[in-house]
Amino acid sequence: MIYNGIDFDTYLKSYPNEDGYFGKYGGMYVDDRLKKAMNEITQAYFTICKSRKFIDELRRIRKEFQGRPTPISHLERLSNSLGNVQLYVKREDLNHTGAHKLNHCMGEALLAKYMGKKKLIAETGAGQHGVAIATAAAYFGLECDVYMGSVDIKKQAPNVARMKILGANVVEVTHGLATLKEAVDAAFEAYAKDYENSIYCIGSVVGPHPFPMMVRDFQSVVGIEAREQFMEMTGELPDAVVACVGGGSNSAGFFSGFLNYPVDIYGIEPLGKGTKLGDHAASLQYGTEGVMHGFNSIMLKDENGDPAPVYSVASGLDYPSSGPEHAFLSELGRVKYDVIGDDDAIDAFFTLSRLEGIIPAIESSHAVAYGIKLAKEMGKGSVLINLSGRGDKDMDYIIEKYGIR
Ligand SMILES: *Cc1c(COP(=O)(O)O)cnc(C)c1O
Repeated sequence: MIYNGIDFDTYLKSYPNEDGYFGKYGGMYVDDRLKKAMNEITQAYFTICKSRKFIDELRRIRKEFQGRPTPISHLERLSNSLGNVQLYVKREDLNHTGAHKLNHCMGEALLAKYMGKKKLIAETGAGQHGVAIATAAAYFGLECDVYMGSVDIKKQAPNVARMKILGANVVEVTHGLATLKEAVDAAFEAYAKDYENSIYCIGSVVGPHPFPMMVRDFQSVVGIEAREQFMEMTGELPDAVVACVGGGSNSAGFFSGFLNYPVDIYGIEPLGKGTKLGDHAASLQYGTEGVMHGFNSIMLKDENGDPAPVYSVASGLDYPSSGPEHAFLSELGRVKYDVIGDDDAIDAFFTLSRLEGIIPAIESSHAVAYGIKLAKEMGKGSVLINLSGRGDKDMDYIIEKYGIR
């Protein structure tokens, strides 16, 4: 399928280019030490992803450890309550550890094992990525250092406990605001010092090349499964697909299965409390081009041009940029990016729980809310939503802040 001059038959092979660019977005904006490390990972990835042994082992792990393929569920009661449009969800909440993140963490850890590395290094904000990477490290018998701001350590006690039970070393970062940004800087610094022995495992389709490509490729299993399962269930393609966008990993993998098909694609960013800078994390909607964390993309900046403070009720979505591929797909118009605020996401959280018996992650609830909105607007057809994770982690906070609806 040709769209806006881009041939989507060959898109996944052509983008990013050799230097890690999707159009003008992406690249490898790091110092020479890290450049050497990134080039080593890139080479290893290109060799390994063609190896039968690596592919077979990843397949086996997905099936026997993660529980893939995850199913698609038809949301009959919710669809009937809205009209004629049929809504479906791809159940990444049923992936081991309860979210899509393990898809790329197992891939990254398997790569580490093939490269002979002994240790995984990662940063985490809310702790979801930390738990996924600690799980992968335990599975492969690798050491694991997870950098986390002291503010987040206090807020996310259950995830800190999970990481420790899984055998990971949670490294407290106390400088600056002591949240995700400082944790990223500290993790990169530790990795630059020890890259011969370790590998950096990024939490989304962000960071320097090759991570946006590699994480997308590891997540593409979600999109491929979803398209095949949907065709088998209904005999057709969905009219529209929807996913939430933080850094953009669950959406990048899910969308990759549909880019070359006549399907409308929607990426949903968090509008938080409103359109004022600081109240949301809708970077593609309100941001401008810039470089952060080693890559060029669209980002929200403060008056000094540094990453701006961002907010969303969903801590997995509050990142001041999105992966370079999303900036590119937005510019092309192949994916339409839109927003959902806290209140609509909370409504969708309760609606899906009550009508379907599925408690969604508050991140995924943004995609569900948009699916509901689309269903009302479309009048007929079908919408497939990527349910990136389960909501157990969010229940206490939501009940405390919003009560039971
Ligand atoms: C981390 C997370 C997200 C956001 O990350 P992406 O890289 O944008 O996918 C979304 N949903 C869940 C359940 C998460 O844990």
